Amino acid sequence: MSTRGMLIVLSGPSGVGKGTVRKAMLKNSSIKFDYSVSMTTRQMRPGEVDGVDYYFRTNEEFEEEIKNDGMLEYAKYVDHYYGTPLKYVNQKLDAGIDVLLEIEVNGAMQVREKMPDGVFIFLTPPDLTSLRDRITHRGTDDEKTIDKRMEKAKKEIQMMTSYDYAVVNDKIPNAVEKIEGIIRSEHLRVARVIDQYKKIIGD
Ligand code: 5GP
Repeated sequence: MSTRGMLIVLSGPSGVGKGTVRKAMLKNSSIKFDYSVSMTTRQMRPGEVDGVDYYFRTNEEFEEEIKNDGMLEYAKYVDHYYGTPLKYVNQKLDAGIDVLLEIEVNGAMQVREKMPDGVFIFLTPPDLTSLRDRITHRGTDDEKTIDKRMEKAKKEIQMMTSYDYAVVNDKIPNAVEKIEGIIRSEHLRVARVIDQYKKIIGD
């Protein structure tokens, strides 16, 4: 019997660069894991592919999934649903494969309730100025909207206390290296490996 895979939840405030770090991990990481593609009702952006970046679904389809208990977690973010399909996650974990989720903070707290043995990593901005710069540069938001998003981000940063690890996203390769270190160490936790040693130590 293989050991169950580990669930890794990468989360953090909006604008911190979770998506960029996740993509860098998928591309360069020496660590083996599968990424759980989320489902969303938002519009597909240029260059995005259905089934790769997200499963793009209608409101009705998403709500049907919720009704059928098909989601591990879900949240409404900027008027759209985002969520993690449960079946894929369970299949991979059962097969002994680690699964990475990249999700916003409300969803992460739902996962914490349902799968407390996951590893919860909070990606933080180096400071609020750099977060504001990111939010300003990436879109067409006016000053008022940016202020609102900053207020939201500050509240989200306070949620850091509910996570196991805080990783600062100063430079992407640094953040990736830290996350890899966390994953390696978590695999050595006695609680995770004890079953493999039962023969030696006796039950
Ligand atoms: P975007 O629209 O920019 O791709 O993503 C918006 C936000 O939704 C990001 O903070 C991203 O981390 C989050 N997100 C992506 N997938 C999921 C998901 O499955 N569940 C939750 N709760 N948030 C998600």
